[in-house]
Amino acid sequence: MSGIPVTELKGIGPKTAEALARLGIRTTEDLVRHFPSHFAFYPKPEEIGEISEEGLCAVAAAPQGPLNVIRRGRFVMTRGRFSDGTGSIDLVWYNMPWLKKSIHSDVTRVYCGKAQRKAGKLVLEQPAIFTEAEYEALTGRPVPVYPLTQGISNKTLTGAIGQALLRLPVQEDWMTEEERVRYGLCEEDTAVRRIHAPRDMQEYETARKRIVFDEFYSFLLDVRELKRRIMTTPSGYVMQTEPGMMEYRALLPFTLTEAQERAAAEICRDLEGGTVMNRLLQGDVGSGKTAVAAAALYIAFRNGYQSAIMVPTEVLAQQHYRTMQQLFSGAEHAPRLLLLTGSLKASEKRAAREAIRDHEADIVIGTHALIQEDVVFDSLSLVVTDEQHRFGVGQRELLASKGLAPHMLVMSATPIPRTLAVILYGDLENSVLDARPAGRLPVKNAVIPRKDRPKALLHIRKEIEKGHQAYIICPLVEESELSDEENVTDYSEKLAESFRGIATVGSLHGRMKEKEKQEIMDRFLRKEIDILVSTTVVEVGVDVPNATVMMVENAERFGLATLHQLRGRVGRGADQSYCIFVQGKRSETASERLEILKRSNDGFEIAAADLRMRGPGELFGELQSGELTFRLGDIYNDYGILKDAKALLDARTAQPDPGERPAGRRGVIL
Ligand code: ADP
Ligand code: MG
Repeated sequence: MSGIPVTELKGIGPKTAEALARLGIRTTEDLVRHFPSHFAFYPKPEEIGEISEEGLCAVAAAPQGPLNVIRRGRFVMTRGRFSDGTGSIDLVWYNMPWLKKSIHSDVTRVYCGKAQRKAGKLVLEQPAIFTEAEYEALTGRPVPVYPLTQGISNKTLTGAIGQALLRLPVQEDWMTEEERVRYGLCEEDTAVRRIHAPRDMQEYETARKRIVFDEFYSFLLDVRELKRRIMTTPSGYVMQTEPGMMEYRALLPFTLTEAQERAAAEICRDLEGGTVMNRLLQGDVGSGKTAVAAAALYIAFRNGYQSAIMVPTEVLAQQHYRTMQQLFSGAEHAPRLLLLTGSLKASEKRAAREAIRDHEADIVIGTHALIQEDVVFDSLSLVVTDEQHRFGVGQRELLASKGLAPHMLVMSATPIPRTLAVILYGDLENSVLDARPAGRLPVKNAVIPRKDRPKALLHIRKEIEKGHQAYIICPLVEESELSDEENVTDYSEKLAESFRGIATVGSLHGRMKEKEKQEIMDRFLRKEIDILVSTTVVEVGVDVPNATVMMVENAERFGLATLHQLRGRVGRGADQSYCIFVQGKRSETASERLEILKRSNDGFEIAAADLRMRGPGELFGELQSGELTFRLGDIYNDYGILKDAKALLDARTAQPDPGERPAGRRGVIL
């Protein structure tokens, strides 16, 4: 069941179809599963004479004369006085000069927009325009607002979805009535129809609950099926882990922690076993996941196989490459390393691909360029992915589609609370690094207002005099008219000025070319840069143990997970480190969030606190780029539904006949 092509609907031409395709919509089935992102509530039209306050309002009025078009440079304003017999008000539109022709005097239309006080007088800014009949149909109920793309209006989409719903055959529910009652759910068919046209928000919530339940159930079922499949996939790469593991320990400049040893032993057992490994290695920032992963890579090499480690950014790929080069340089058996990233020259890429094919490289380190179609391995036995939550869902399937079944080790620092992780990944093999390397002092935290920044800078100065380095994070790249938040460009200039002769300042942000970014990171590593002013591009994985201060400007603007990741950039060496959150705008939620971070350095504890106290999922927003995305569901907000879905799955698995599964399934994750 996949529906009818959208082009068969009324009013959907090739152009619109193309735009819809950009939203991932090709069939009526896709249309009905394109859910509203929120709802608009149109107010009943008011008498103009009665409007006295700012805010959203609607008037049924006609212009008193022709509209005026006012141009100032590239700025165009269309303005006119409208009345409804009870009074008059000015309406203003920006950059829509054609309205002058399309709005005729004497014709009453409904105008809905924000009333704003300008020079003491109320004006209606940028109002939307409706016929009276059109507007009547919109009032008194929540009006769905859909995620859009260029070339598609909400009106077109709403119309298309309405048509699709009419053509949607009534489906038999995959859930029994008894089950629906048990979890307080409405029927699937009702849910899909109602969510697009609820009479009130209560009805919306009921519909949403059912759809979210189905999403979660599908996900959990996929994870379970994946696990079953993998557990039974025989491995083409059965390894001997000694003497590799012993040799590896001798190469390390430190002793593995107990937690690392435990995780390594679990991995070794997988590699020695007869089935393909599929293991999640969870550990807070700084817990030393890389050292564990490198053990597995080295063992694969000692067994004569190739392996790869995939990371989300080039900066991180370079860093891993360098760390491993250093680590293996003194080895009696040294694996040949190869770096493969998107920014290599075409000729370099070709050479890299050949080296991989001919097994002239043992360990390949790279970004997702690494699994692109034209890269062929001689004997890919193991794939490690770092900071997996930054990867899209498809990569894993791409590997599988090449007919490869390497061992998989997924490293994640996403602090998913344990209770949640058990539900989400309970069916997967899981190793947890629950302790950090010994001898690390806990990071000292401070939350300060902007006015105390000079004190913080003085502190940074002292640290630099001790030979240490610092990061300063700004939310913006350059100055913006829309925001008074700090930006990397101006900040680093000012800082360079005030630290002249005392410290070198470098800047880093995502708009730089990869080569430039790399050069800056290199200079920071070589201590040629003392203070690195950066956007959150340094957030993931960067490891410069000599840096002891992390200062975050406009800390209120970032989520808990990001702030915790940023803090993880310091406290990586033996010296005392500091994290300073500078709070710009004050708000209760921001203060609360910073308070949690100040109190605890433990990612799992922070995530658990977040889950307990937060409303709309703070962390979820940041997970969205990765694997835990659902169309409607939010693992934090909808935790209760998630638990129910898991309960149903367990109950059904215990029965001889597990029953049906939801339609509209999504790809398998992890
Ligand atoms: P993460 O888990 O955040 O990816 P890394 O693997 O980058 O952490 O390790 C953080 C730092 O700790 C690195 O500089 C690494 O060399 C160091 N490290 C890892 N394991 C140990 C250990 N057992 N003893 C001392 N230092 C360690
Ligand atoms: Mg890391």
